[in-house]
Amino acid sequence: MKKRASATAVAKLSRTEIPRLRREANDPPVANPRAGDLLAWYDRHRRVLPWRALPGEHADPYRVWLSEIMLQQTTVATVVPYYERFLARFPNVQSLAVAPLADVLAAWAGLGYYSRARNLHACAKMIVEEHGGQLPRSEAELARLPGIGPYTAAAIAAIAFDEKAVPVDGNVERVVARLHRVKEALPAAKPLLRKLAQGLAEDVSGNARFGDLAQALMDLGATLCRPGQPLCMLCPWRNACRAFARGDPESFPRKSAKREGKLRRGAAFVLVRQDGAILVRSRAETGLLGGMTEVPGSEWAADFDEEFAMSHAPSLAGEPRLDWRRLDGEVRHVFTHFPLELAVFVASASHKARAPRGCRFLPSTEIASAALPTLMMKVLAFAGALAHVPRSRASLS
Ligand code: SF4
Repeated sequence: MKKRASATAVAKLSRTEIPRLRREANDPPVANPRAGDLLAWYDRHRRVLPWRALPGEHADPYRVWLSEIMLQQTTVATVVPYYERFLARFPNVQSLAVAPLADVLAAWAGLGYYSRARNLHACAKMIVEEHGGQLPRSEAELARLPGIGPYTAAAIAAIAFDEKAVPVDGNVERVVARLHRVKEALPAAKPLLRKLAQGLAEDVSGNARFGDLAQALMDLGATLCRPGQPLCMLCPWRNACRAFARGDPESFPRKSAKREGKLRRGAAFVLVRQDGAILVRSRAETGLLGGMTEVPGSEWAADFDEEFAMSHAPSLAGEPRLDWRRLDGEVRHVFTHFPLELAVFVASASHKARAPRGCRFLPSTEIASAALPTLMMKVLAFAGALAHVPRSRASLS
């Protein structure tokens, strides 16, 4: 029979020896993950984030809500400058509720997933009109508001109100899948992972630190229990982690093979007037990039035909026929469900040119503040039409 190394002995071994020893063990016993251990680690290592209350302070529900909506599908590093600008422009739920949707979309421009901004605006109106300007406390009530799904409802309930709720996102799924070596693959494993995550809140005692527990789990997933090369030796739960004990954390969570969306292609037409103004239009209110500003273009389809796409090129009444020139290469962009390639055509018009029906000329000085999504900023950069735009807005990384 192989000898098992005790936890104390293992702690003294070098990093390279630990995985080998753990792999040799058949079913190493582990402790239960205790909330207290994670909270003690969080008290020492919590990340400082602009929306996060400092120790001893109460979280501001508006800031928690705004940050959680912005953080959906978006990294902390990307969100921070948007969050700060948005908060300066709309400092509370009342100012957001009375603002025109176009202003909200313009403040969101570049952050992507624009239905979040439309829902945020609709939600602010509902909070003011039906909840007296206060976000409700419970997960169930929060989940009835526009744009607030189960994860966001749990995050707001826990962080803003210390309700007993555990928000489970990809980071928390990863932590739990490793703690328990969950062999079922995602997405089928989601209900099980959620249940196991709820169990982590069961032994939170004393002064109900459910908000801190939620944020501690987020921080653990983001800083130590990373997708690649997790820093297990620094983890407060390493003695309770089955994947660490077996030396294979990076094998979890297991995932079913992903199906990629089919490539769609289309054309974008950049018409620049002599004074630098660019011809634009607004997209339909609903659907992908709903309500956002775009240059005219063709449909985006798998069976793109360039000649047919040219029939969508705008023309100007009372002006000579526009001389459209196709630029070499394409603009590439990846949406959640499909990648897109746009062929870009450019033309110029006299300073007297008037926009055709459904379009308008956007002065060059207003490009930076317009509700142009990242895709359209890429198109304008590709066409060389961003000369007057400040670097912060023209940056597409
Ligand atoms: S020990 Fe490693 S794998 Fe396990 S929870 Fe901690 S960081 Fe993640």
